[in-house]
Amino acid sequence: MAQKMKTIALFGGTFNPVHFGHLRMALELKEVLGFDEMRLLPSHQPAHRGEPEVSAADRHDMLALALENCPELMLDDRELRREGATYTVDTLEELRSELGDKISLSFCMGLDSLLGLPGWHRWEKLLTLAHLVVVTRPGWHIPREGEVAELVAQHRGDMAELASEPAGRILIREQTLLPISATGVRELIRSGRSPRYLLPERVLDYIETHRLYRS
Ligand code: ATP
Repeated sequence: MAQKMKTIALFGGTFNPVHFGHLRMALELKEVLGFDEMRLLPSHQPAHRGEPEVSAADRHDMLALALENCPELMLDDRELRREGATYTVDTLEELRSELGDKISLSFCMGLDSLLGLPGWHRWEKLLTLAHLVVVTRPGWHIPREGEVAELVAQHRGDMAELASEPAGRILIREQTLLPISATGVRELIRSGRSPRYLLPERVLDYIETHRLYRS
């Protein structure tokens, strides 16, 4: 039988701000798929016109607060420590050179991101560095034809394969998402309403203390 490796999963996003949708998803993926580590990986945020800017340091600190009482989830802030935008493939290369090739590395993404994957920088390289865990909402499907369909057909795998190989598989996982988005949270605050119960209390306190997301 194939030997199980240490399994590390990465959950990327801008986390502007982090909310319970992100946190539940990361925790459920870790528990259901049995990853040894689940790391939240905040990325640089391209500036949006008309939106007040929230610094990388603020997004980092809110995420750190959200994870303070959750030993199951870790913060990996390597992209924020680098200057400017980072491509996922570069981050995975860096991780791979740190961790060696005896570790199973999985990058989690939503179906939307998978559909856009052929537009990513050096996308063909991604599966040589990591597995992809693709989360679909119940009732949503992977396309039947095209580049992405072929990629999934070639690489589709299960958790046993993910845990015994370092990279190269695509695992599709159907999961219900909490109906929360960071855009929704920002809009509530901008219009003077409360986002309480959509995100951790400590993150809300931080937003209020630093007067974030107000116009
Ligand atoms: P925005 O509204 O600013 O686009 P967002 O809430 O979608 O932000 P991101 O930081 O862009 O959050 O997303 C990080 C990751 O979390 C992505 O993989 C995204 O698919 C996932 N995600 C976002 N919202 C939810 C949710 N409600 N439940 C589960 N996963 C989510």
